[in-house]
This record gives sequence, C-alpha cells and structure tokens, in this order.
Amino acid sequence: MDFNLPQELRMLKRSLRGFVDKELIPLEQKFRPEGEEMPQDLLGPLQEKVKAMGLWMLDVPQEHGGAGLDLLTRCVIAEEVARTAVLPFRGNELFGPEVRPVLFHCNEEQKERFLFPVIRGEKRVCFAQTEPDAGSDPANMKTRAVRDGDHFILNGTKRFITGAGSADYAQVMAVTDTEKRARGGITCLIVDMKSPGVNLDRHWPTMMGDAPWEIVFDNVRVPAANVIGTVGEGFTLAQKWITEGRIRGHGARPVGIAQRALEMMIDYAQQRVTFGQPLSERQAVQFMIADSAMELHAARLMVYECAWRHDRGEDIRNLAYMVKVMCSEMAGRVVDRAIQIHGGVGLTKDLPLEWWYRQVRSIRITEGATEVLRWRLAQNVIKAHKR
Ligand SMILES: Cc1cc2nc3c(=O)[nH]c(=O)nc-3n(C[C@H](O)[C@H](O)[C@H](O)COP(=O)(O)OP(=O)(O)OC[C@H]3O[C@@H](n4cnc5c(N)ncnc54)[C@H](O)[C@@H]3O)c2cc1C
Repeated sequence: MDFNLPQELRMLKRSLRGFVDKELIPLEQKFRPEGEEMPQDLLGPLQEKVKAMGLWMLDVPQEHGGAGLDLLTRCVIAEEVARTAVLPFRGNELFGPEVRPVLFHCNEEQKERFLFPVIRGEKRVCFAQTEPDAGSDPANMKTRAVRDGDHFILNGTKRFITGAGSADYAQVMAVTDTEKRARGGITCLIVDMKSPGVNLDRHWPTMMGDAPWEIVFDNVRVPAANVIGTVGEGFTLAQKWITEGRIRGHGARPVGIAQRALEMMIDYAQQRVTFGQPLSERQAVQFMIADSAMELHAARLMVYECAWRHDRGEDIRNLAYMVKVMCSEMAGRVVDRAIQIHGGVGLTKDLPLEWWYRQVRSIRITEGATEVLRWRLAQNVIKAHKR
C-alpha cells in the first residue's frame, strides 16, 4: 500500500503550485470575481501558459483534442488552482471552454452540432435540472417533454441555472415518462436558447456574486434528434456527471482553499504580536492551526482515495457523499479560523478569506445539500449492514 501520489502527479502538483504562486496569486489585488468572467486580457495569457504545460481541456477525450485526464489528476489540478481567489468559482475557463460532460454522450451527428462548437469555444451550454419545486429531489421534477412526431414539446420552469444568460444551448432534464421518472423516465434534451418559447424569466443574485437564471419553457418544440443518449437515460447521465463534479469541485477544490487558508493563518500568527508575543505562541491559536491541519489531511486523503477508486471503475457513490460532506464542511471551518486569527484584517476585502467564506458556504447546498448526502449515505450503510 502506497499513500504517495505517483511521481508524475507529484511533479505536476509542484509545477502547478509554482504557477499559482507566481502567476495567479499576485493578480488577486487586481481581480476578485463576483460572478463575472475573468477579463480576456488577464485570462488569455494565462491560458497560453497552461496550454504550454499540456493542461488544456482536461476532461475532453484525447480523440477530440483534449487532455483526457483521469479524475485523480483533475483533482490534483483543481486542488492546486483553488489556492487562488482570482479564478471565478463557477465557470472558470483557465483550462479551456467548459464542456459539460453530458455532451460527451452525443452521437456523431450531435457532436458536430453541439460538442465541437463548445470545444472550439464558439458556443456555450448550460445545465438545467433544478426547478422551483425540485432541487434536492430532482426525480420529482415537473418539466415535461411530450413526443409530437419528430419533435418533443417542452413545458416547465428551471431555476438557478448557471450561465443561462450567455448560453447558446441548454441541456434540459425533462420527464418523458411520468411512471418511470428517475428509473428511465427522465430525458436529456439539448434546447437552442433562441427557440420560440424559451424565456429567461429572471436572475437570482447571490451572496457569492453569481446570479443564476430562471428559464421558462413554454411549448418549446425540440427536435427528437436533440435527445442525448437514449430517451429515459438522462437522469443516469446527469447523476454520473454530478458525482464526478462532487469529488473534484466539492472535494478537491475545498481542500486547495483550506490549504491556502492554513498557510495564511500560520504566516500571520507568526508575524502578529499581541501582549508581547506572536499569536503563534498562544495555545488557543495553535489549536486552531492543529485542528485545521488534521482536518485538511483527512479530507485530502479521502479525495485522493475516492478519485483513485473512481478511475479503477469502482462504485464510489458512498465515498463521493463522504468526500463532499467532509471537504465542504472542513473548508468552511478552516477559512473561518483563518479569518478569526487575522482579526479585523481577515474581514476585509484585501484578503481572499471573506471571498472563500462566501463561496465555500454555497457548496454545502449546491449539487446536493449535505443533509441529503448524509441521508443517502446512511440509507446505503444501513442497507449494506442488513445483508
Ligand atoms: C449559485 C447556484 C448555482 C446553481 N447552478 C445550477 C445549475 O447550473 N443547474 C441546476 O440544475 N441547478 C443549479 N443550482 C441549483 C442547486 O443545485 C440547488 O439549489 C440545490 O440542489 C438545492 O436545491 P434547493 O435549492 O431546491 O433546496 P431544497 O431541495 O428545497 O432543500 C432545502 C434544504 O432542505 C434540506 N433538505 C432537503 N432535503 C432533505 C432531506 N431529505 N433530509 C434532510 N434535509 C433536507 C437541506 O438542508 C437543503 O439545503 C444552483 C444553485 C445555486 C445557488
């Protein structure tokens, strides 16, 4: 048993650490995203540098010109780049256009229409699953797609859809069989956002700066040729993608954030003197550092193990629940302690801590609230115990 990352991943981690320290962290004083994209004059040169490192379109298969990296490698990358607050928390395009993996299930004809234009950066796509009455429980969605000849007629409302305002297409999850629902009755359709009947109803500004959209579909005619995968397969495709996202975005990323917050709290505790002694000499402060180091270590091991098992083709559903709950809650506590140790300056916008505090709060809710994941985990653990 070897708890070390393979040699090539350790090298990649080290070179990315240098890149983030030298190229990204210094930009934090210039740009701190509040929902907006990184300006092209900052993003363009950075993209050229990561391309030169061979890091471009990380999850896109090699046959389509991407790096086709496994999940463990993508987790290591996500962890390292999360150490800076200069990249947008949602819609980060440092490593190329955001391709939503459900698109990888396009057939050859659909790849030409949807996947390749997204990969080339010509078109954008959003993912529309959540509804006003179905967030944690997407199987209960109301949006219906009813077959009408060689089209589906789509009706319903999707809420909190990131990037819908600038998307050319939406990957919409809709019920095609009310009996089967999550078990073969939910289908993924690509909807052209310019179709008659697609209305961006409103957007919802949030504490993180993002403002996801509400989309209303009113008798929208969607060609049957726009079904991704097979009719009824959409829920399974989306859940697989969301599970991967949980490990990388809600597991590895909070680990990277907590790593930098820990580094910052140690640096500050050593330099800040109160009552004649550096803060780092106080046991109350040392305990905050020790707790953060311990929790971070445990969370990082969980992420690496889970990603490694995923790449070996193992069923990692329960591990993914654990990773998201542990990492999102851990990062919240570590960032909170870092703010506490910095005192008043920790609350200011000079430091990235307040930004992370707001961003990290959101991932205990998005893509699966932690209560729901605990509940699912408990169900599975209890069931396995009964066998
Ligand atoms: C910034 C942002 C971006 C988003 N982007 C997208 C996107 O691009 N596409 C998309 O489809 N969706 C998106 N979402 C939606 C997001 O995934 C949902 O908000 C999330 O799944 C929670 O659903 P909900 O808000 O309806 O909460 P609800 O389902 O109403 O749950 C509310 C709370 O109830 C509790 N709860 C719920 N069920 C249980 C249970 N069984 N046991 C115990 N407690 C429970 C939890 O504490 C939960 O936080 C986004 C949301 C935000 C805020």
